[in-house]
Amino acid sequence: MKILITGGAGFIGSAVVRQAIADGHSVVNLDALTYAACLDNVAGVADSPNYAFVQADIRDRAALDAAFTAHHPDAVMHLAAESHVDRSIDGPGDFIETNITGTYNMLEAARSYWTAKGKPASFRFHHISTDEVFGSLPADKSVKFTEDTPYDPRSPYSASKASSDHLVRAWHETYGLPVVLTNCSNNYGPFHFPEKLVPVIILNALAGKDLPIYGDGSNVRDWLFVEDHARALLVALQRGALGRSYNIGGDNERTNLELVTALCAILDAKRPKNEGSYADQITYVTDRPGHDARYAIDATRIQDELGWKPSVTVEEGLERTVDWYLDNTDWWQALLDRKGVGERLGVKALS
Ligand code: NAD
Repeated sequence: MKILITGGAGFIGSAVVRQAIADGHSVVNLDALTYAACLDNVAGVADSPNYAFVQADIRDRAALDAAFTAHHPDAVMHLAAESHVDRSIDGPGDFIETNITGTYNMLEAARSYWTAKGKPASFRFHHISTDEVFGSLPADKSVKFTEDTPYDPRSPYSASKASSDHLVRAWHETYGLPVVLTNCSNNYGPFHFPEKLVPVIILNALAGKDLPIYGDGSNVRDWLFVEDHARALLVALQRGALGRSYNIGGDNERTNLELVTALCAILDAKRPKNEGSYADQITYVTDRPGHDARYAIDATRIQDELGWKPSVTVEEGLERTVDWYLDNTDWWQALLDRKGVGERLGVKALS
C-alpha cells in the first residue's frame, strides 16, 4: 500500500514511517518541518526506494492537492499537528490553524482526490488523535476513557484536536469519505522532542538541573511506548472498520511523580552520581492552568476487534528510552541548539 503520512518528521509520525517501510509499504512523508520536526528521525529509511519526502504545510491547500496528484496514495495517515500543551497555552493561534484548518484542508484535498478516482471503497483517511479530547478523569481507577466517553477538551491543544476529530467524522457522515480514527494516550520513546516530560527529565538530570514537576506530581497519565503506538496505527489503518474510532493505550497508569522517580532510578543504575540520587533534583513548580488530573484508556475495542496489544512494558520501555538518549547525544544536542528550544527549557548548557 502507498501511504501518505503527514507529520512524518515528528516523534510519532517518524515511528510510523519507519514501521510502515519495515512492513513493506511505500511512504510519502509530508511535513512542513516546523520547530518540532527532525529529518534525522527517518534517516534510516530515507534511501529506501519506497520512501519519498514532500515538504508542505497542511495549511496550504494547493500544496496538498499537488502532493495527492503527484503521488497517488492508497491511504492517508494524518499525524501533522501542533502537539505541545504548554505551547498551546502560550500561543493558541498556531493550534487553531494547523490542527483545525489544516485538518479541514487535508479532508478536502483527500475528498477531491478520492472523488476524482471514482471513490474507491479501499481508500482510507486515518486521523490520529489524543485521549486528551475526553477531558479529565476522577482518581477512581475503575473509570477509564472508552470510545463512547463524551468529549470534554480543556486546553487549547485538546480543543483543537477535538475539533479535528469532529470534522473527520462529519466528512464520513456527510460525504462518505472512508475514515478511521484513533485516540491514544501519552507516548514516550526514542526521538521524543526534548521539550516533552520524559526527555526533559533525562536531559535535566544529566545536566545536574532541577527536574520540574507540575503541582504535587499527582497527575496521572497512561504511558505507551511509541513503537507500540505505531504498530497499533498500522493495524487500525488496515483492519479498522469504516467510520469507527479506536482508543489506544498501554494500561500503564503512573502519576508524574512515579514516572519521574522511575526514570531517576534507571539513571542512578546506569550513570551513578557521586552522591545521592537524581531524584534529589526533583522540584515542584506552579501547576499548569487547567491541568487535567487523570487520563486512562480502555483499549478493549482495539484489542478485541483488531487483535492489537502492547508488546513493551513501561519498565522495559523507559529503560530503552533512557539508553537511547544516553547513546544519541548528537541528536538531542542539535535540537537544543535550535533557536529558542534550549533557552525555553533551561537546558542550553548541556554538553
Ligand atoms: P510532534 O510535534 O513530534 O510532530 C508533529 C509533526 O507535524 C512535526 O514533524 C511537524 O513539522 C509537523 N507539522 C506541524 N505543523 C504542520 C503543518 N502545518 N503542516 C505540515 N506539517 C506540520 O508530534 P507527535 O507527538 O509526534 O504527535 C503526532 C500526532 O499524534 C499529533 O496529531 C498528536 O496530536 C497525536 N498524539 C500524540 C500523542 C503524544 O503522546 N505525543 C498522543 C496521542 C496522539
